[in-house]
Amino acid sequence: MKNHTVLELDNIHKVYDLGEVKIPALQGVSLRVAAGEFVAVMGASGSGKSTLMNLVGCLDRPTEGRYLLDGQDVAGLSPAERARIRNRKIGFVFQQFNLLARTSALENVELPMLYADVPAAERHQRARGTLALVGLEGREDHHPSQLSGGQQQRVAIARALINRPSILLADEPTGNLDSRTSAEIMELLERLNREQGLLVVLVTHEADVAAHARRIVLMRDGRILRDLSVLNRHEALEAVHHILDSAAAEAEPSAASE
Ligand code: ADP
Ligand code: MG
Repeated sequence: MKNHTVLELDNIHKVYDLGEVKIPALQGVSLRVAAGEFVAVMGASGSGKSTLMNLVGCLDRPTEGRYLLDGQDVAGLSPAERARIRNRKIGFVFQQFNLLARTSALENVELPMLYADVPAAERHQRARGTLALVGLEGREDHHPSQLSGGQQQRVAIARALINRPSILLADEPTGNLDSRTSAEIMELLERLNREQGLLVVLVTHEADVAAHARRIVLMRDGRILRDLSVLNRHEALEAVHHILDSAAAEAEPSAASE
């Protein structure tokens, strides 16, 4: 099952209709991602990265185009049907950690299981196990304010993994972290990808964050401009810079990168 296609997007368009204005956020995106891949999505602000992640994560639906998730056509599903698939298959991590402030790390991680009707004893045990998996053994009772930014993001990652999704989507997960902590979080995601076979798609602006991925997708103006595998781990950072530089070189003057 290792290399079967999990995400298959065909000519996806997304238009935000604001009445007077229509914003074409995605303009024909086609993308296939196989089980166990680790993909970094890059591109200037406004290029459609978050829109793409929301569609992939079944938080939103495309205006046009086909999206198969594990072979199932999900583009036309109702919000309730999308939610069911999302809860089963997908974990989300965001730039803001989105933890409940007056709630322990353990309870934050248990939260998604409340909706899944998991018995209390199993909830505690699974939450403890998942916190240990992300390196937070012994911090179960800490509240977010008692944890560093990196630790808070680890709690958020544990929460995202608690229902055992096969896909983790992370939208700028290191955007609020310093570079050393960012590297630690990326090492954690790499380990989860390697050891658990978790399919990871993450959005980042930073080349050294993207260099942890195996594949770089670069977006511009709602389209995929580059899509390249990083073959050699040791030259990953160089490869990412090459992709960004070559794309910048062919950019129109108005589309200067950030
Ligand atoms: P990125 O994540 O790459 O910065 P986004 O996907 O957030 O890009 O945005 C792509 C385009 O769609 C931008 O022009 C943005 O302003 C617009 N956009 C994003 N979300 C919405 C929304 N909910 N309503 C209207 N326009 C949106
Ligand atoms: Mg975004």
